[in-house]
Amino acid sequence: MEIKKGIAVSPGISIAKALIIDSEDYRIPRRPIEPSQRMTETQRVKNAFADAVQELSSLAETQDKAEGGKIMDIFAVHLRFMRDKSLKRKITDLVRSELVTAEYAVSTVLREVASHFANVKDAYISERAADIYDIEKRLLRQLLGKKREDIANLTEQVIVVARELSPTQTASFNKKFVIGIASDAGGRTSHAAIVARSLGIPAVVALENFTQCVRGGDTIIIDGNRGIAILDPDEETVRQYRKYSEEFLALEHKLDAIRDLPAVTRDGIEITLLGNIEFPDEAEAVLQKGGHGIGLYRTEFLYLNSKTEPTEQQHYEAYAQTLSVFKHRPVTIRTMDLGADKFTQSKRFVREPNPFLGLRSIRFCLQNLSLFRTQLRAILRASVIGSAKIMFPLITNIQELTQARLILRDVMEDLDEEQIPYNRDIDVGIMIETPSAALTAYSLAREVAFFSIGTNDLTQYTLAVDRGNELVSTLYSSVDPAVLRLIRTVLQDAHKARIDVSICGEMASEPEYIMLLLGMGVRTISIAHPMIPEIKQVIRSVTIEDCNSVARKALALNSERQISAYLRTSARHILPEAF
Ligand code: PEP
Ligand code: MG
Repeated sequence: MEIKKGIAVSPGISIAKALIIDSEDYRIPRRPIEPSQRMTETQRVKNAFADAVQELSSLAETQDKAEGGKIMDIFAVHLRFMRDKSLKRKITDLVRSELVTAEYAVSTVLREVASHFANVKDAYISERAADIYDIEKRLLRQLLGKKREDIANLTEQVIVVARELSPTQTASFNKKFVIGIASDAGGRTSHAAIVARSLGIPAVVALENFTQCVRGGDTIIIDGNRGIAILDPDEETVRQYRKYSEEFLALEHKLDAIRDLPAVTRDGIEITLLGNIEFPDEAEAVLQKGGHGIGLYRTEFLYLNSKTEPTEQQHYEAYAQTLSVFKHRPVTIRTMDLGADKFTQSKRFVREPNPFLGLRSIRFCLQNLSLFRTQLRAILRASVIGSAKIMFPLITNIQELTQARLILRDVMEDLDEEQIPYNRDIDVGIMIETPSAALTAYSLAREVAFFSIGTNDLTQYTLAVDRGNELVSTLYSSVDPAVLRLIRTVLQDAHKARIDVSICGEMASEPEYIMLLLGMGVRTISIAHPMIPEIKQVIRSVTIEDCNSVARKALALNSERQISAYLRTSARHILPEAF
């Protein structure tokens, strides 16, 4: 039995056999082979090349008829690369000399070639890097074919174990069969973790080298409450965890009973509890858990889950579906937050040195106007169905907001000309998730109907700590005094300007932080639907007077460690039954 401590990102307990998946998007872990396996592994490389060439040739034949020349040209380039004997030899040489698996050798060599291309100044050549990543993916698909099929056609429950998961991969899991997730990498607010929480799959991330200890089929326990993964548990541990699991389910059941009760503090202050969603079919779950509407619809998942760019009609249908669930209650549709760790199909392989500081989010939209306009048209068309709001993410300055609004107005004029109805008084707001936006909130507040504070990114950018990097996860905290000061500024500026303000980052789903947030003046919270009952229970157990006192004291402390410890103690003191 081996117990590993990681970061708890999605609550619940699961016990099942491990299914290890090698991500096609990341480096394949280096697994050594025995000298006697050299022949088998080099033969696997050769077979993968032969099968990939055959697959691409037959694809080229069908494409040729349907689409004409352009795609054929791309396939021809790929075929030329794959028929290049020296490339294949370089890979098999690496297998023989370093005693590594076929997957590792393919990935290492092709990534070397890709980065070589990417660094060439000539744009035509540097763009070939995307082709090389595509070829790597195609070869890995051949090599990992069996395992990939496994995840698509599961017939029994498993715990997925991976080095790192992308949000797209996580979103594709069938939660009937994938009942737990363990990954080496990741952080509490990484997007894959957020998706796991939305799906309600217990998950632990940042388990360092867990994938190297586990073999497919090993029994694993995932404790998504305490952030623990247990490999090969003994009978007593399994028995104990089955009991924890029953207790956890009983508690969830009990919390569901408060679904129809208001989210009101003991001294009568009403709090609006909204849901964060990634997909329209989650809207129903938010309603079921007692959510009052949607505070954050992460629409970029419409792109991540599809092979092609969604059409205006597909956008429209997704928004219309969500709005019709909530009728007149608010549905805040955030425009695409693509980039960084969330890529479109076509932009997936344009590597940026610092993607979180790069062409992300509203910046990406403002440089890809037809994509942006398509989405805005669809939101406006759907706005007649319910109470839609538009929210622009990652605003860093007023010019970006002005530009986004101009485009919105332009799209409105098009609809007017075409006599297509829409809500011309639709509320437009922004996310405050960069320090620059927080520090200029006083002027941004004059231009919008509402703010939503995205504490996941605000924390990452304020503290200069990557939200998904397990190596610095202990430095990432939304209750760092620097982050709290920015949040306080934003709340004060929003209140002064009399505009709505909410919190939609993961911070708001931490029961220990609720008193602090309410004491700082937060009255609207948006969180993943599985967390709604628990947070409502906390709200119903406190008074604003207590919250004000907690916030006052926490804000007077000058280190993150003191603040965290104080919030933990005061939550336990005021709410012993909940903690
Ligand atoms: C945030 O940054 O806090 C946020 C809610 O947006 P996302 O997690 O999608 O980046
Ligand atoms: Mg964000």
